[in-house]
Amino acid sequence: MTATYTREYWEARLVSLSLEGRCFINGEHRHAVSGKTFVRPRPMDGKPGAVLARGEAADVEAAVLSARKVFEAGVWRLKEPSEKKRIMLRWAKLIRAHAEELALLETLDVGKPVLASLNVDVRLCADGIQYYAEMTDKLYDEIAPTGPNARALVRKVPLGVIGAITPWNYPMIIDCWKLGPAIAAGNSVVLKPAEQSSLSAIRLASLAVEAGLPPGVFNVVTGYGEEAGKPLALHMDVDMIAFTGSTAVGKLIMEYAAQSNIKRVALELGGKSPLVVFADADLDAAASAVAWGCFYNSGETCHASTRLLVQRSVQERLIEKIEAVTRNDIMLAHPFEPSAQIGALVEQGHMDKVLGLIAAGEREGARRAFGAERVLSETGGYYISPGVFVDMTNDMSLARQEIFGPVLAAIPFDTEEEALRIANDTIYGLAGAVFTRDMDRAHRFSEALHAGTVWINTYDMSNFATPFGGFKQSGFGRDRSVHAIDKYCDYKTIWQQFG
Ligand code: NAD
Repeated sequence: MTATYTREYWEARLVSLSLEGRCFINGEHRHAVSGKTFVRPRPMDGKPGAVLARGEAADVEAAVLSARKVFEAGVWRLKEPSEKKRIMLRWAKLIRAHAEELALLETLDVGKPVLASLNVDVRLCADGIQYYAEMTDKLYDEIAPTGPNARALVRKVPLGVIGAITPWNYPMIIDCWKLGPAIAAGNSVVLKPAEQSSLSAIRLASLAVEAGLPPGVFNVVTGYGEEAGKPLALHMDVDMIAFTGSTAVGKLIMEYAAQSNIKRVALELGGKSPLVVFADADLDAAASAVAWGCFYNSGETCHASTRLLVQRSVQERLIEKIEAVTRNDIMLAHPFEPSAQIGALVEQGHMDKVLGLIAAGEREGARRAFGAERVLSETGGYYISPGVFVDMTNDMSLARQEIFGPVLAAIPFDTEEEALRIANDTIYGLAGAVFTRDMDRAHRFSEALHAGTVWINTYDMSNFATPFGGFKQSGFGRDRSVHAIDKYCDYKTIWQQFG
């Protein structure tokens, strides 16, 4: 199959691809009420891409109204669970049937290799919708133990209208982490995708309606954060904001909730995850985990292993191995090239920010081992080669700030105690890993690491059955797994007295 996916194949598909950039409200595409639009440059070559509706408060208003109407009418909420399941399963099937189109849209928007979009992002999105489709007819309520003279039903009810605000790094995956459980639980959703990555969200919404999801259950308002995201988060008739993005905007979302109707918030925020390698570890396995963990998706990953804590005696050997994996296995190329393992960064502004952080790090004394330079600039696209800085200390900015680019900070340590102190010395707590052959130490360390996910002798394993989210300023609330359903529900107790 993959053999047919040449660069020419994708170029040809691109010619006939429809770049629908209008909002999707109440089951139909709509221009912004103001008529305003904006153009999304393509990260792979800097050329103009899709024209998108520049949604604002009036568009949010229309979307929330349609979401509320369908919720109150009970068209979706009160549907037979088995019918809900059939519709959501059809939706997952349609996503798979349109996999190439969706992959192309995702790559045009964010610059990742189209084969990664196809084999990872689209696949996981369909799997996520299917996972929650399967749950729709398996959600039970409870009867509280109140004694024989009364009965108290503890019902789990949907919240109502969910505002979902999502980032650009894994748009389809993160959208489905919100849409799957929120819709399976009976809610309506207004999604505000990142301004950089709206195309796949708009297509997901039209496929949902094609699958039979009633109009108004899933709406998309495109536009900028300040102009469309903020009115959504401030809206008095939105019951919850499910947000994934930066810690700075996460804090604003909490403020908006407090300023408006005390809506609930769930926040999946930034990270600066430590990957800790002890001298007794399998260094080949560690090198591969470090390189893929930090550089996959050009480092635009919230849980990227951007801080390598390495026991001093093996630092040099490990860095050599990381360099070999990076040079031999992690091919950086135009996103349509079948060989590309990583592609472009999302936009010029972000590339400039990453290059600026690298330059600032060097001024502070960070020593470059290899890479971390702008490459393929002749294409007009936004590419930075994966790179490593060594002999770092944890107070340097490259070790503290979430760079969101392919840049690894290697920090040497001597003792386990020191490694743990450095690993936890961050405002974030999203993920981490420990590499050692000593299983007592591995478990001791994993328990002590302040992070929502910890891997032992591996990195980035994930599964829909496992909750994902952070501690500390990486946020709260969990995506994925059966537990995500709870976030979109509330408990309601109904008493009845006998006799
Ligand atoms: P961002 O915070 O800039 O934007 C995220 C979303 O918020 C976008 O849709 C944006 O338009 C919107 N937004 C911006 N300002 C807003 C405002 N004032 N009011 C309402 N909405 C607003 O983040 P980004 O640059 O798109 O994504 C990168 C960040 O996302 C990184 O910090 C990364 O770690 C984080 N992230 C976290 C996870 C996780 O699961 N923890 C996953 C992916 C990305």
